[in-house]
Amino acid sequence: MGTFKTSDIQITEGTVFIILDLEWNQPFPGKDYGIDVSTLRGEIIDIGAEKYIFTCGGLVHQGSFSMQVRPKVYRKLHYHVQKLTHKTNKEIKNGTPFEEAFPEYLSFCGDNYILVCWGNSDPDILKQNMKFFGFDENIDQPFFDLQPVFSRFAGERGQQRSVEFAVDYYNIPKDDTFHSAWADSHYTGLIFKAMFEHNKSQELLAVIGSSLRDPDIIKDFTFMSGETDELEKVYNMAFEFPQLCPFCNEKLTPKMKPFRIRKSVYALLECREHGDYFYRARIKKNKQSKYFAAAVMRFAAQSDYYLIADKAEEFKKFGVKGEPPKPKEEASETEETKL
Ligand SMILES: [Zn+2]
Repeated sequence: MGTFKTSDIQITEGTVFIILDLEWNQPFPGKDYGIDVSTLRGEIIDIGAEKYIFTCGGLVHQGSFSMQVRPKVYRKLHYHVQKLTHKTNKEIKNGTPFEEAFPEYLSFCGDNYILVCWGNSDPDILKQNMKFFGFDENIDQPFFDLQPVFSRFAGERGQQRSVEFAVDYYNIPKDDTFHSAWADSHYTGLIFKAMFEHNKSQELLAVIGSSLRDPDIIKDFTFMSGETDELEKVYNMAFEFPQLCPFCNEKLTPKMKPFRIRKSVYALLECREHGDYFYRARIKKNKQSKYFAAAVMRFAAQSDYYLIADKAEEFKKFGVKGEPPKPKEEASETEETKL
């Protein structure tokens, strides 16, 4: 369970890649579902997976898996999800329950593989669903996010590109709508295959090797600055760290420069090997009335991109003072920034 070191993993003749794409429904804000919705941020409604085997320096397709899943908790489609996936409430009712779908997915995957997704939210959502439905919550296989690897080889470093963009980039014929799990995993597989055809295999493998991570380890890194009496100093501290990627110690480059709203500093930092990190530091005061900064950094998930885009917008409009607080918003922000 989570005992492998990603640096020990070799991609060799016969290595299996599972390209996974999930679609999930999300709760309506404020609606009572009788559960703590933070333990199930998305309930899976569609699983798509493709199996490829690494051989002779390229990828060979081995099989496909596709299953609609009937949600148990978030049974009515959220309008965002409906818009994105074009699914209907009637359609998802006909799905297979997760308890049955998941073991079938697992047996499709087999025992040893490298999990590949476009973006890094899918493993987290999968783990939440596994746990929620009473399975062992460990994925127990190495994982990497293909998106930053694509961007790097396409000379698009730092750009967060969609599957469709990458499909067009490699002139892959498309005849299907995107944003179904089947289509997205299908096209992500074709992109991955094309990447081997358009690049030197060894170079690609080196980047994949250094992008592998254990999806079961905690991905939140926390930092504490030193203490100071001066508010100005602590703000500087909050802006200055972290400089290095916690995985490879390479220098991080700001994709969105750090900015401050009230007592929080936000940034989006990029490691060329490991992709984007969301960064947030809070200025605090300890019992001795000294200031310090407490920060958290994690692989940026979709919700982090939304959050930081919102905050950047707020900063643009209102500067460091931020939007004049409304009582309700203040409460939710405290919740969010708990370390
Ligand atoms: Zn790194």
